[in-house]
Amino acid sequence: MIEEKFDAIVIGAGMSGNAAAYTMASHGLNVLQLERGEYPGSKNVQGAIMYANMLEKIIPDFRDDAPLERHLVEQRLWVMDETSHTGIHYRSDDFNEAKPNRYTIIRAQFDKWFSRKVREAGATVLCETTVTELVRDAKDKVVGVRTDRAGGAIFADVVVLAEGVSGLLGTRAGLREMPKPQTVALAVKEMHFLPEEVIEQRFGLKGDEGCVIEAVGTTSRGMAGLGFLYTNKESISLGIGCLVSDFAAMMESPYVLLDALKNHPSIRPLIAGSEVKEYAAHLIPEGGYKAIPQLFGDGWVVVGDAAQLNNAVHREGSNLAMTSGRIAAEAIVKVKSRNGPMTKRNLALYKAMLDKSFVVKDLRKYKDMPALLHTNSCNFFTTYPRLMSQAAQNFMRIDGTPKIEKEKATTAAFIKARSRWGLVSDAVRLAFAWR
Ligand SMILES: Cc1cc2nc3c(=O)[nH]c(=O)nc-3n(C[C@H](O)[C@H](O)[C@H](O)COP(=O)(O)OP(=O)(O)OC[C@H]3O[C@@H](n4cnc5c(N)ncnc54)[C@H](O)[C@@H]3O)c2cc1C
Repeated sequence: MIEEKFDAIVIGAGMSGNAAAYTMASHGLNVLQLERGEYPGSKNVQGAIMYANMLEKIIPDFRDDAPLERHLVEQRLWVMDETSHTGIHYRSDDFNEAKPNRYTIIRAQFDKWFSRKVREAGATVLCETTVTELVRDAKDKVVGVRTDRAGGAIFADVVVLAEGVSGLLGTRAGLREMPKPQTVALAVKEMHFLPEEVIEQRFGLKGDEGCVIEAVGTTSRGMAGLGFLYTNKESISLGIGCLVSDFAAMMESPYVLLDALKNHPSIRPLIAGSEVKEYAAHLIPEGGYKAIPQLFGDGWVVVGDAAQLNNAVHREGSNLAMTSGRIAAEAIVKVKSRNGPMTKRNLALYKAMLDKSFVVKDLRKYKDMPALLHTNSCNFFTTYPRLMSQAAQNFMRIDGTPKIEKEKATTAAFIKARSRWGLVSDAVRLAFAWR
């Protein structure tokens, strides 16, 4: 195994680890990155929408050679009951810009590309290498790692923990708590392969244009959950996720929900005739602001999903991962440039910089979201979707009933289902959550 001492060791070659390793290596730091997977991306799961702005801040010309699937021109938000969906669709030709803002990607390909950039920037990347332990000195400062490869410890001034949501290393080392069932979602996803032209015809797309559907409703069986459908070039990613604590309480399993989503009359025609070639399951940190652990200490920082930096409300994770990785790396570069030791005091710069970024500002804004969604969640995910469908049908069926009576019937149905007080309290809770 490698004998020399590094400026930094990065654990994990996902979005956050690659961002950190690339940024430090391009600033001339001697970086070692360790990844347990056979290749970067082999273990990683994402929907996947990738947000260009955050990658541009790391690799401005990424569009030249990154494996991008489709740029998004249309987003559909659906509220579903068993037989219908009520939707808001937004589509704009403005998204056909020279430098599109959002792309679908396939992580296995994208992470390989990102890792090649990390190597080209000068970092040493070792795959099939699991970090088994953090090494500390007599003063408890993290000074290196041990791996499952033969040989002793590998030393570095600072260790960047980019090990993803379940992050056993950090929890085993006592740097943070194990994620709780009520702060992590379990999502399952299938890749449905279809010819390019079929996808384009079904979603009204041309060239590299893409469309996404995000759906809430009765498919999650009263649990707070989100279904998604993302168009790639020659495949459709279809998935759904709910909190682990909800799955346990409801004794439900994720693949049952995925089956319900696939067989929903609004989804089934979109994937008809497809061949499923991949199935994946993965956790997503959804505890929000209150679940963010200690982000730095003597000789270490934690980034990305391992730091629970995920915005469940806006379904953003990879951009928070890339940004926290980049910012941690920039903080380390700053400390190094003034010959400062990688102490807790100096590495506090990472948190100070992160606090000023959209990452923490966005998470702070929605700090009560999980509580909102998980108190009486069945109203938001079952009762209201059914009522919305009922109201839409009532409005659309022209059957000679005077409109005033239709309006009264709709209002009565809402009050019967939730009572006046229930409706007001749900509206107030929603308004407060989004204030
Ligand atoms: C189903 C699903 C859909 C999603 N959709 C989206 C989306 O559309 N848009 C979006 O922005 N985000 C999405 N996310 C979230 C996004 O995938 C994550 O936020 C992002 O991948 C986090 O990156 P990361 O680098 O922190 O962790 P990861 O990508 O999980 O990378 C961690 C890496 O560390 C490695 N590792 C772990 N332990 C060790 C060890 N001991 N030694 C060596 N290596 C180790 C792992 O093998 C892995 O490669 C989705 C997540 C899921 C599960």
